[in-house]
Amino acid sequence: MEIRYPNYGSKMAESACKHLRRVGDNYGESCSDCGAQLAGFGNWATFPDCLHQWFDDPALDYVICYYCETQRKRDPNVKEIHTIQ
Ligand SMILES: [Zn+2]
Ligand SMILES: [Zn+2]
Repeated sequence: MEIRYPNYGSKMAESACKHLRRVGDNYGESCSDCGAQLAGFGNWATFPDCLHQWFDDPALDYVICYYCETQRKRDPNVKEIHTIQ
């Protein structure tokens, strides 16, 4: 099922968008141009599912999602760990 939001422009514009203007809050990040979900639940928690941003804290033996706090085991083969800037 596809959920469309009125301000979010066409699918074509979205696929052409480089998502250079990111907007974010405590819930996540979205592209301010096309509205795409870039991290977490999107800006203003627009999306129902979290796009996890795994945060690697060396003091812990797991990685944790910055937005929804889901935990998972650290996988040395996976290089998708993000750090908070
Ligand atoms: Zn975009
Ligand atoms: Zn998450």
